[in-house]
Amino acid sequence: MNERVVVIGAGMAGLWTALALAPTGREVVLLERDPPPPQGDFGGDLGGDGLDAAFHDWSRRGVGQLRHSHAFLARLRLLIRDQHPELLAELMAAGCRELRFEDGLTDLHRARFTPQPADADLSILTSRRTTLELVMRRYVTRLAGVSLRTGVFVRDLTIAAGQPPRVTGVTLEDGEAIPADLVVDASGHTSQTIDQLAAAGVAIAETSEPSGVIYFTRHYRMRPGAEEPPRGQASATGDLGYLKFGVFPGDNGCFSVTLCVPEVEEEMRKAVVAPETFDAVCAQLPGVAAWIEPARAEPVSRVFGMGKLESRWRDLAPGGQPAVLGFFPVGDSLVRSNPLYGRGCSFAGVSAYLLRGALEASADPAERVRLYQRATESELRPYYDAMRRADQSAIRRARRALLPPRKPSLRARILQSFVEDAVTVAVRSDPDLLRASLRGFHMLEDPQAWLRRPDALIRILGYWARGKRANAAAYRPKLEPERREMLTAVGVSPDADEARVRAAAA
Ligand SMILES: Cc1cc2nc3c(=O)[nH]c(=O)nc-3n(C[C@H](O)[C@H](O)[C@H](O)COP(=O)(O)OP(=O)(O)OC[C@H]3O[C@@H](n4cnc5c(N)ncnc54)[C@H](O)[C@@H]3O)c2cc1C
Repeated sequence: MNERVVVIGAGMAGLWTALALAPTGREVVLLERDPPPPQGDFGGDLGGDGLDAAFHDWSRRGVGQLRHSHAFLARLRLLIRDQHPELLAELMAAGCRELRFEDGLTDLHRARFTPQPADADLSILTSRRTTLELVMRRYVTRLAGVSLRTGVFVRDLTIAAGQPPRVTGVTLEDGEAIPADLVVDASGHTSQTIDQLAAAGVAIAETSEPSGVIYFTRHYRMRPGAEEPPRGQASATGDLGYLKFGVFPGDNGCFSVTLCVPEVEEEMRKAVVAPETFDAVCAQLPGVAAWIEPARAEPVSRVFGMGKLESRWRDLAPGGQPAVLGFFPVGDSLVRSNPLYGRGCSFAGVSAYLLRGALEASADPAERVRLYQRATESELRPYYDAMRRADQSAIRRARRALLPPRKPSLRARILQSFVEDAVTVAVRSDPDLLRASLRGFHMLEDPQAWLRRPDALIRILGYWARGKRANAAAYRPKLEPERREMLTAVGVSPDADEARVRAAAA
C-alpha cells in the first residue's frame, strides 16, 4: 500500500517496524535523535574492531540500556529466521551467539534426551546489544522504501482536531514539519508523545507499577586462547531472592555479567556499582566466578547501573473506542516490562508485526486502532500479566529476606513445595517438560498453557509423589552464600537495611 509511515526512533522497535512494514511496499522514514555509530551507517568496518568501536564509542543517549546485557528470545529469533533469513546470517557472521536447547540440559535430561526437530525453535540469540543493533540497522537501511535520518529530534506530533483527533505528522526540533499517513512511536520508555497527546485532549489509558529491581552490568572479554568454562554443577544464572544473576555470552569473545538487586537492598545497590565490589560479588557465585577468573577473562567496561524499571501498559482504545487515529506506539512506548524476563525486544518485534497485520487487514483508521489494540491484548498481555505477578512475588520475597524468619502458613508451604519439589524438579528432570515450559518462556504459547495440560500435570505430580530423596539429583545444588554471608564477604553491612525494613514493619 502506498502509505508514508514516519517512525520516531530507530532503536529496537523502530528497526522492527521497518522490518515488518518495508516488505508491504510502504515508505518507512526512521527519525533518530542519536548520531550514527563511529564507523557510520552505510560503510566502515563491521569486523571485530568496528563492533568494539560501536560498543565503546557509539553515543546513544536515547537508549539508557544500550550497554546492558541483551538476549533475544526464541520468538524473536524465529521472526528473524522466518521473515528475514539473510539478517540472521549477517548477525551470525558478526559473531552473535545462539544458545541452543541442548546447551541447557542437565545430566538427568541428557540420560533421556532424544533430539526433536522442534528443538531448533528454542534457541536464544545473544551478543552485545550494540552488535545486534548495528547489524540490524545496516540490514534495515538496505531494504527498499526505508530511509534513516540520524541526529534529528522529534519535538512534537502534528495533531488534526476531530472526533477522535488524528496524527498527521511530526515536527523536528529545528521546526521542520514532516507529514505522514501514519506515525509510529518507537521512541522507547522515555517517549514524550503520550504527554503531547494528553495536552491536546487525547487520553490514552495507562497502568504502571515498579518492577522492584535495579540492574547492574559489567562486560568482560576472554583472554586470547582462553575457553568458556564448561557447563557444570555451578549455574551461571540464578535467583537467590536477595540477588539475581546471569552470565550472557556475547559476540567475538565478549560476555557480560548482570546482577539484579532488589530496590529494598539499599546498601548493596550503592556498593555494587564499584567494579571491585561487583567482581567480589561475582567471586562469591561459583558459576559466575569461573567466567571472570583473571586467567580466563579481563573486564572491558565499568559497571553500568539502571533503575526506575517499571512495568507499563498503554491502551489506545479504552472501552473499544480509539482515542486517536493515525498513531501507533510500538515497543517500550506501548508496553514496558522488567528486563529480567528478556522480553522487551520480543515485544518490540511482535508489536511491529501486529501493527502490520492491523494495517493490512483494514484501511479504516478507527478499525486499524481497534485491531491493533485487540491483537496486543491477546498476544502480549498474558506475558505482561505473568511478569507483573512474578515481580510482585519477588518484591515480597526480597523484603522477607530482611525480616526475622517466621513460619509460613500451611498454604504457603504447600505452594512453595509444589513449585520447588514438583514443578522445578520435574522440569530439571524431564526433557519433554523442559521443552513445554520453555515454549511459554520464549513466548511461543501462553506462559501458563503447559501447566494446564493434563499430561504435563500428571508427570509433575508424579515427581512430587516420589519425594525429595528419590528426586535428590534433580535439585539445583546450592553453592551460593546466604544474604548475610554474601554482604559480609564483600564488605557491605547487612544490618542497616534490615533495621530499616523491620522498623517499617513494626
Ligand atoms: C537493563 C535492561 C536490560 C534489558 N535486557 C533485555 C534483554 O535481554 N532482552 C530483551 O528482549 N529486552 C531487554 N531489555 C528491554 C529492551 O531494551 C527494550 O524493550 C527495547 O530496547 C525497546 O525498544 P524500543 O525501540 O521501544 O526502545 P529503545 O530501544 O530504547 O529505542 C528508542 C529509540 O528512540 C530514540 N528516540 C527517543 N526519543 C526520540 C525523539 N524524540 N526523536 C527521535 N528519536 C528518539 C532513541 O534515541 C532510541 O534510539 C532490557 C532493558 C533494560 C532496561
